[in-house]
Amino acid sequence: MIVDRLVDYLPVSGPLGPRLRDGLGRRFEYLRLSLTEVCNFRCTYCLPDGYRKRCGQPSVLSLAEIERAVRAFAALGLWKVRLTGGEPTIRHDFEDVARAVSTVPGIRRVAMTTNGYRLAERAQSWRDAGVDALNISVDSLDPARFAAITGHDRLAEVLAGIDAAREAGFSSIKLNAVLMRGVNDDELEAMTRFVATRDLSLRFIEVMRTNDNAEFFAARHVSGESVARRLEAAGWQRLAREAGAGPAVEFGHAEARGRIGIIAPYAKDFCASCNRLRLGSDGKFHLCLFGDGGFDLRPLLQHDDQHDELVARIVALTRTKAPAHRLHDGDSGATPHLASIGG
Ligand code: SAM
Repeated sequence: MIVDRLVDYLPVSGPLGPRLRDGLGRRFEYLRLSLTEVCNFRCTYCLPDGYRKRCGQPSVLSLAEIERAVRAFAALGLWKVRLTGGEPTIRHDFEDVARAVSTVPGIRRVAMTTNGYRLAERAQSWRDAGVDALNISVDSLDPARFAAITGHDRLAEVLAGIDAAREAGFSSIKLNAVLMRGVNDDELEAMTRFVATRDLSLRFIEVMRTNDNAEFFAARHVSGESVARRLEAAGWQRLAREAGAGPAVEFGHAEARGRIGIIAPYAKDFCASCNRLRLGSDGKFHLCLFGDGGFDLRPLLQHDDQHDELVARIVALTRTKAPAHRLHDGDSGATPHLASIGG
C-alpha cells in the first residue's frame, strides 16, 4: 500500500519498471500494435465475407509513425509489443516494422499473431527481423474444417509453417484456437494431444461477440469454464497465476511438454488483470478491445519533438480506462470485428 503510494510520485519509467497505470492501479507493460485491418482469411467469426475497406478509412501508420509511438510507450516502461492486425504480414514492409520496433530502446520482446499464411517461407526472416515469439491461429487440425472456418484450404501449409518456426528458433510458439459449438469443439482432445507432444503451447479463445457477429456468437459460443472442466477431467491442472500475468488462465500436465491457456473474456474478473493497451493501424489508441472507438494519437506522431506531449497524452488517457468491458450486457462497443482493432 505504502509502496503503491510512493510509486505515484516517481518518474514514469526507471528502475522500478512499468509506470503506466490506470485509475484502478492496473499496470501496463504490453502494447498490441495493429499493422493493418486487412486480412486475407475469411474466418467465420471475424470476416466471413472477407475484408472490405471501410468508407473513409485512413491509411495505415507509416514506419516513422510506428517508431515514434513505440518510443513513447517504451519511455513509459512498456517492454513487450505484439504485432497483429488484420494479418500483419500482409504489409509489404512487415520486416522493416519488426526490425524497427525490436530495436527501440526498452523493448525486450516482440511477438506477433499470424494466420500462418506465409510462415513456412518467411519464419527465419521474421525471426531475423527481431520477432521473438509467435502466436499462430489454428482453429482445426482437420483440413476440410480448417478450410470451412478460414476460407482457405491451407492447413498443411500452416502446419509446415509451425515446423519452420520451430527450426527458426523463436523463444515461444503458441497456437490460438477459437472453439465453436458444433464446429470444432469436438477437437479439444486432439488439439491438446498435438501440443502435449511438441514444444508448443495452445490458447483456447472464447468466441467474442462483436458488432458484426451477434448471431454467430449466440449459436456458437463455448464458455471458457466448460473448456476448463474438460481439461481438468483429462488431468490438466490449473497453474498458479504469476505476478503481472495477463488474463489467460494457464494449465499444465505432468506428461505434457506444452501448456494450455484459456482466454475467457466472459469469465468473472477477466478485466481485473488486464495488462494490455492497443494502438490501431490508423493511430487510434484503444484502452479496451470493446471500447468506444479509440483516441487519435496520429497528430502527435508527426515529429520527433512531439515525444513529451505524446507521452503525457498516453498517461492521461490510460488513467481513464474503464474497469471492465460491457460484453455481458451485449455491448461490444464500437468494434465491428477484431481485425479492425488488432485482436
Ligand atoms: N490475422 C492474425 C490471425 O489470424 O491470427 C491476427 C489477427 S486475429 C484478429 C487475432 C486472433 O483473434 C486470432 O487468433 C483470431 O482467431 C482471434 N479472433 C478474431 N475474432 C475473434 C472473435 N470474434 N472471438 C474470438 N477470437 C477472435
